[in-house]
Amino acid sequence: MKDLDYKVIVGLEIHVHLATRTKMFCGCELAYGQEPNSRVCPVCLGMPGSLPVMNRQAVEHSILTAMALHCRITPHTKWDRKSYYYPDLPKNYQISQYDLPIGQNGFIEIPGQGGQVKRIRILRAHLEEDAGKNTHTFGAFSAIDLNRAGSPLLEIVTEPDLESPAEVRALAQELQRIVRYLGVSEADMQKGHMRFEPNINLHITRDGQVFKTPITEVKNLNSFRSIERSVAYEIERQLDEFIETGKTLQMGNKKTFGWDDANQCTVLQREKEEAHDYRYFPEPDLVPVEVSPQWMESIGSRLCELPLVRQQRFVQQYGMSDYDAGVLTADRATAEFFEQSVRAGGQAKRVCNLLTQAGLKLANEKGRTVAELGISAANLARLAQMADSGQTSATAAVAIFEAMTQSDSGPEAIAAERNLIQKSDAGEIESLVDAVIAANPQAVEDWREGGKKSAKSRGFLLGQVIQKSKGQANPKIVSEILDRKK
Ligand code: ZN
Ligand code: MN
Repeated sequence: MKDLDYKVIVGLEIHVHLATRTKMFCGCELAYGQEPNSRVCPVCLGMPGSLPVMNRQAVEHSILTAMALHCRITPHTKWDRKSYYYPDLPKNYQISQYDLPIGQNGFIEIPGQGGQVKRIRILRAHLEEDAGKNTHTFGAFSAIDLNRAGSPLLEIVTEPDLESPAEVRALAQELQRIVRYLGVSEADMQKGHMRFEPNINLHITRDGQVFKTPITEVKNLNSFRSIERSVAYEIERQLDEFIETGKTLQMGNKKTFGWDDANQCTVLQREKEEAHDYRYFPEPDLVPVEVSPQWMESIGSRLCELPLVRQQRFVQQYGMSDYDAGVLTADRATAEFFEQSVRAGGQAKRVCNLLTQAGLKLANEKGRTVAELGISAANLARLAQMADSGQTSATAAVAIFEAMTQSDSGPEAIAAERNLIQKSDAGEIESLVDAVIAANPQAVEDWREGGKKSAKSRGFLLGQVIQKSKGQANPKIVSEILDRKK
């Protein structure tokens, strides 16, 4: 029954917390994890007679993000009141943007299959304020923390261009990388800096006819895993429902679901969501926003190469795998650190290996990026050169890398101090080879005879030479000298 021919249609709404110092319309500090209701004032508490004042930086962050999403920036915009009643919203309305969002009609590129890029259209991006937070951990009572109320939020709405759970996840991750590159949001999922709401339905083809299933919206997802899984779950649920009931999309049969993470399923919250009458009207307490060409230009100067573009360039320019390029472009500082090292003379592949192999592990342990490990780009470049020229082995280079994170010394000094300079002196190595040959007649015989034991014996002899050099002999040179003496 389930082998129906169908297409998945998903649009995504994303709320991104902007990293400003203070709230959207008052001077309260934006702070996470502080004493409840300690970062509040008459404005964000919704006291009658208090007046909001726009946070310029939040507007600039929004315009910059909208630019990076290739949106048209609305030159003349304004604020609107969106009325609804909820305990975490003391004013009983949210200040938002209704018909004049700050950015419109853009797109975001996400990684698709086989190194391809897929373009997802962006319908709009608008700025608004967040509500407070209800908690239900006090027995019969609920508590409200308004520290978050009035935080600046950028709401981004995509067109329904996403066609699989994996694509939805890819978009979420790409957007996280973009806002971090731009420095407009920490985009920390655990702190709720990004919240996602997918709208999902299916176009099912049966007997040459297309049936559209009712759209469902899943509210307030705050992890990449839950976005992907909730969409996958909804696809199955909608297929089952269609097979059972044959129900199709009609006006007013949109449903709202929540995600039950413990049971890994969606849960119905509201049936028949009417087109809510939010009674939008222009906010009378705030002046409209004029975005002058000069202002646009100065904000636009903060744009940078987008992460996915950079990732593709790294593959092209440095011949690295898409995976390694993804790791190095995960954050802007790491990508820039890598390129600084290459410009300082490090061979790209070697620098990449040192960063992805030695650096990542350390960075993860310390909860930092590899750019923050305390190594200068110049020192990393010199270490890469030492490994390339055979002055140190690849293993020693990793040890030197680790040591460099804890000291100000350069790679040469550390290598000398720790006896990690690889010996490439042919004369010195030759005498070691001769000694090993003299001491192991049986292995030498097996090796020279050829036959089954030959390769193993050669390996043994090579190992003995390296051991005799206390691990410092360059294996390539040992190998060459040994083979000369066969
Ligand atoms: Zn306040
Ligand atoms: Mn919103």
